[in-house]
Amino acid sequence: MELLGNEQALSRLQNMVDCERIGHGYLFTGAEGTGKRTLARWFAKAILCTGEHPPCEECPACRKMERLSHPDYKEYVGENRARSFPVEVVRQIRQDCAVLPNEGKKKIYCLSNVQNMTTEGLNAFLKTLEEPPAHSVFLLLCPSATQLPETVHSRLVQIPLQPLSWEQVEQITAKALPETDSKLRRQAALLSDGSAGLAMKLVQEEEFGQRAKQAQTICQSLIHRQEYRLAQVLAQLEKDGEGFLQVLQLTQRLLRIQLEQSSPALPQKQEIRVLELLEQARLRLSGNAHKGLTGAWLAIRLMEAVSMP
Ligand SMILES: [Zn+2]
Repeated sequence: MELLGNEQALSRLQNMVDCERIGHGYLFTGAEGTGKRTLARWFAKAILCTGEHPPCEECPACRKMERLSHPDYKEYVGENRARSFPVEVVRQIRQDCAVLPNEGKKKIYCLSNVQNMTTEGLNAFLKTLEEPPAHSVFLLLCPSATQLPETVHSRLVQIPLQPLSWEQVEQITAKALPETDSKLRRQAALLSDGSAGLAMKLVQEEEFGQRAKQAQTICQSLIHRQEYRLAQVLAQLEKDGEGFLQVLQLTQRLLRIQLEQSSPALPQKQEIRVLELLEQARLRLSGNAHKGLTGAWLAIRLMEAVSMP
């Protein structure tokens, strides 16, 4: 279990474990890939740990949690689709939580995508939350608290998670997918908006590998003022629908990182102009502008920008 970022949420949870003040319901919120489930699993491990400093990572309970085979921990991953969280699952949980834990002091249920519960499911769940069995702990995961009725989220301790920095995403991706190309991981992290899940998905996509190379080529051809090479890559992109936008966005981020790190590859004035042009092109494409014309326009303007005194 790799925990990175979200130090505030982590220390709040650690505090609750240390004071043995564990409530019945928690709501972990944050965009996809911000680490909600990883943190919920860590919390469950800490609650079930039988060692001295939970989570000790060494006791049988911690080891079982690491393998996700602890009999008192259950996970339900709803689909990411409206109303797809089945009411039957809620009914099963209601029956199951009435039974005492197998080994631990608590019985923990981790439910993902609870925003997709039907009204029927939510009502059934609300009854459980109103009179929870003493040993039960519910960890609910969803993008935002506003996606649940107030009657539900007001009964839960809220644990909001923040997007990770791109450097943290890069680290997580490197640990999870060590066999992948490190340059590609960096580019996926730059495009991930703080979501390690998205970065990992991108790294494994064949098209993304291709697009990452195209973004690099654009940067290189600007640095070396290679007009033909630039026009060539932009012409390739005309045929790649979504890819065109993604490559432009990636090029922007690659250049912006260099600016932030005060090591721009181009004179600063030129680099800022290049960033503006990439943004304009992205807006045009999002507004359904003709791809061929946008590509040709961009090629000319970018070469002008890198020729500025
Ligand atoms: Zn332990």
